[in-house]
Amino acid sequence: MSGGFSQQDANGRLRHLITLDGVPRALIEELLDRAQSHVTPAGALPPRGDDLAGWTVANLFAEPSTRTRASFELAAVRLGADTINLDVMLSSRAKGESIIDTIYTLQEMQVNVFVIRDAEPGIHEYVARHVGPGVSVISGGEAHLSHPTQGLLDALTIRQCKGGFDGLVVTLVGDIRRSRVARSAHRALSTLGVAEIRIVAPPVMMPEPAEFAGARRFGSLDEGIAGADVVMMLRIQQERATGAGATDLVAYHQDYGLTPARIERAAPEAIVMHPGPMNRGVEITSDVADGPRSMIRRQVANGVAVRMAVLAHVAAARGRAP
Ligand code: ASP
Repeated sequence: MSGGFSQQDANGRLRHLITLDGVPRALIEELLDRAQSHVTPAGALPPRGDDLAGWTVANLFAEPSTRTRASFELAAVRLGADTINLDVMLSSRAKGESIIDTIYTLQEMQVNVFVIRDAEPGIHEYVARHVGPGVSVISGGEAHLSHPTQGLLDALTIRQCKGGFDGLVVTLVGDIRRSRVARSAHRALSTLGVAEIRIVAPPVMMPEPAEFAGARRFGSLDEGIAGADVVMMLRIQQERATGAGATDLVAYHQDYGLTPARIERAAPEAIVMHPGPMNRGVEITSDVADGPRSMIRRQVANGVAVRMAVLAHVAAARGRAP
């Protein structure tokens, strides 16, 4: 967050959710507890509420999305909101008036929450600085920088499987350098007190030394996965590549693909995660992705619960509901 801007209100509640940086542990835990209350057993009807009754949530997604966009929409609808979905390329417009004109136009239609995914760093905060007093901005993904609801759903999944965060070893594997999922997972899990976070990547996919403070870095997956309780695989963000050329996917799979043999090096009860979309046969084989350790589908289910929790929190912070 740049100078003078806070996503929290005077009471410490979230008015916006743009990043997990600076969000205190107690507030993250409160969001996870709230999300857990929205988790229902498989086969049960999804939970509903009226926390957002009368509100309108606008999804403005300028990058492809299946899971995030659908889950924000379902979360909003299940809490009683109206929703609109627009493919608005905020970042492709000239800065300033035109972005804000779009936002002001939608505000006149009584949009209360903007959920924004955009490839340009800073757009979310820029919009949040300009919206009217009763309007919230929630990030559905910001460039390579931040994906806060993904970080929360990953934390929720780990908490459900492991009962907490104490003493865990969590290994993030792949294109860490260009991954907003890895950055938000690192932020959430550091705040929640995970003992050891490891990042595993080839040199071109390693983040700058100043990033991922406290994480142990490994060039070898076999070393980085040894004894891990949680193994989070990431997609190669080829769409964010600049000049370096395409990755040799066969060689990448050899060195960094998660296979049944490799996962055996992790802790006996280790779980496997992936934010999707998966490239089967590249960063993960189908046997592992669909195997007993995989929590990948559970992550998707938790995505709706977490987005309900964030929307309900924002509504409650504005005096809407308990
Ligand atoms: N769906 C995630 C994201 O939006 C991960 C990915 O695209 O690889 O960042």
